[in-house]
Amino acid sequence: MPASGKIPVPYRILALMHERERLFAYPTGELAKKIMMTGFRCARCGVCCTRKRNDHVFLLDRDVRDVMKIDPAALEPAPGPEFCDGEGTLYVSGYAVRVKEDREGSCWFLKDRQCSIYDRRFSVCRTYPHTLRWARDASGNPSWALFSRPGLHGFLHQDLADEECIELARGVKEYENALITHQIEFLESVHDYFSEHHLMHDGTRLRHETRRYLQGEEVMIRVFSFGDWAHYRIRKGSPSSGMACL
Ligand code: SF4
Repeated sequence: MPASGKIPVPYRILALMHERERLFAYPTGELAKKIMMTGFRCARCGVCCTRKRNDHVFLLDRDVRDVMKIDPAALEPAPGPEFCDGEGTLYVSGYAVRVKEDREGSCWFLKDRQCSIYDRRFSVCRTYPHTLRWARDASGNPSWALFSRPGLHGFLHQDLADEECIELARGVKEYENALITHQIEFLESVHDYFSEHHLMHDGTRLRHETRRYLQGEEVMIRVFSFGDWAHYRIRKGSPSSGMACL
């Protein structure tokens, strides 16, 4: 099946598997040392929790379960569906936290610049801005990206305890592993689904339906979560509770 980005799905799965192996091989102690050297502390300005800094908060399945308990209206399909079939149904890898319609594009849970569910915040919120991604650096060479948007938020070079750094390093590796694994399962599932139903990915239709969605028109979308597909008719900005599940 041709894939979005023009790389066949099986190659994308293989690349992700290699990425996961590299992640496992990265020594946790070394990551903890780098976290200590960075010495990042959150300044509680709330900017990272808005679209000014981050496009969206992607939710792992365990986070989706938590949102369902806290406030199901905060759930929406993650932006950027990757596939579209010939009937115009979009396919996206999971859910994100809904963004408010305010000027900053604040997270649904941001109240007076503070996270209103801080003790129950989601997986990525617990490790951000630390990361462990194999990516291209400014010169185009592949290397590890360890920190997201340096210099744009928080305090740096603060004193952090050894245990805190180790715990963070474990959390970062665990989160990145869960994210890659989710993406692999999404690609496998979409590949199987298209094969079983004799569907073809249609890149032109993907762009067309995505544009319609961004313009506020109703679209059909399948969201991958808990190893299965939920099928919705949805408009941009409508909460999960307002989605018509088919
Ligand atoms: S859940 Fe809390 S920490 Fe996470 S983005 Fe929203 S406001 Fe920020």
